[in-house]
Amino acid sequence: MTGRILIVDTVPTNRIVMKVKMLAAQFAVDACGSCDEAEALIAKERPDLILINLSDPVEDRHAFCRELKEEPDTASIAVISIGVADTARARFAALDAGADDVLPRPINDALLLARIRSLLRVRNARQELSLRDGTSRALGFEEVRKEFEVSATVALLSNAPATGDVLCAKLEHHLTLPVVRVDSDHVLARSAATPVPDLFVIDGTQDLDGGSGIYRLISDLRSRSDTRLSSLLVVLPDNQPDIAALVLDLGADDVIGVSVASGELGLRAKALIHQKLLYDRLRNTVRDGLRAAVTDPLTGLFNRRYVQPHLARIAAQAQSTQREFAVMMLDIDHFKSINDRYGHAAGDRVLVEISRRLRENLRSIDLVARIGGEEFMVAMPRTCSDQAQVAADRLRRLVSTKPFSLGPDLPYLTVTVSVGVAIGGLTRLDGVQIEAMCHQADAALYVAKNAGRDKVAMSDAA
Ligand code: GH3
Ligand code: MG
Ligand code: MG
Repeated sequence: MTGRILIVDTVPTNRIVMKVKMLAAQFAVDACGSCDEAEALIAKERPDLILINLSDPVEDRHAFCRELKEEPDTASIAVISIGVADTARARFAALDAGADDVLPRPINDALLLARIRSLLRVRNARQELSLRDGTSRALGFEEVRKEFEVSATVALLSNAPATGDVLCAKLEHHLTLPVVRVDSDHVLARSAATPVPDLFVIDGTQDLDGGSGIYRLISDLRSRSDTRLSSLLVVLPDNQPDIAALVLDLGADDVIGVSVASGELGLRAKALIHQKLLYDRLRNTVRDGLRAAVTDPLTGLFNRRYVQPHLARIAAQAQSTQREFAVMMLDIDHFKSINDRYGHAAGDRVLVEISRRLRENLRSIDLVARIGGEEFMVAMPRTCSDQAQVAADRLRRLVSTKPFSLGPDLPYLTVTVSVGVAIGGLTRLDGVQIEAMCHQADAALYVAKNAGRDKVAMSDAA
């Protein structure tokens, strides 16, 4: 895995030793001795992860770390605190300042590298989401904090009742959330109706010999589609750096020794819940943005932008299955006069109602899109000319036979559409040919208009 690492340590030999280790692991490395220098390097080199010695007699590095995590531009840079005293108080202070992990000296290299890999994994995923969204700044941590209390679900997986009870009590105390106890044998058989936990806390104090239980459980949770995005925190026996490294490489987000202070357990659990909820928000924003880009806000139908790639997929499928498909253009007759007589709002109501009737009367594999003001396109896979003609006439009558409500205090009005149909798909169609097929449907539409409207016309080529 590649990444850029910044080392901040006052002691030159510490910097050099660490730099050699990081270079050997194929990371790009910068190193400096003070927060001022670090700030300049962060702005210039944009590191992915910072290894910082938080214990410095001269400057307040905890404050530096806290600022880093509060500033949207730098909040997603991972921070590992190295070299602070291994006391509960020092660890807590570092995590509370925003460090993602605390590794006291002497540092276990396997664990350090596994930790770096796991944090870079998270950072990459998060960066990709915020890049696509393009507004990482707008997605502050504050809103995530607000959601936190109400919506997070936490599951504790433990097969050891005594340890489980203690962990559960500590978690509930610090998170002020109910924690669901799950037998790890049953977690994978979880019913689809129960919500997917945002955080799994896995008791790994048993089951470590024989190599089966917990390792397989972590891999399973990571690879299953429903749980792969949940955060995983694994509680291990104390002083087991090699197991911790393995567990991180299997996909755990964090590991913690069983006898660390309960405050630290709470902090780590909270950080992982925040991380998961932030992910969810980023993903939803991206998804909503994509959906908005291809839908028409008035009718909820797909817009013109969606049509072309979708038609290309239908055409490819038609050719491979040797089943024709139909493209229909529908245009409301004399729509301008509805606007002119009853107002634009009445016209909009007609557009919305026609969209609803079309959508509800087609198969789920058919596509309905609004491609212009009062023009719609319907694409029907696996549909030959005769079937298309029947379907088009059904849609036409769906509009003409039931008058439309134009709004309060306005009359009901009979509205009609004209439809042009083209058929294709037995031979391979490229983008230009698909466009030509749409033009054929358009030409047929004008035939229907000229024939007096409220008509269906088939393209000659069909
Ligand atoms: P034809 O039977 O030949 O299709 O006549 P037409 O009046 O339907 O066609 P024309 O192209 O002359 O007019 C289309 C009208 O659709 C003009 C435009 O103001 C109206 N229009 C386009 N988009 C919207 C919209 O979103 N809402 C409303 N209310 N009207 C719209
Ligand atoms: Mg028109
Ligand atoms: Mg029209």
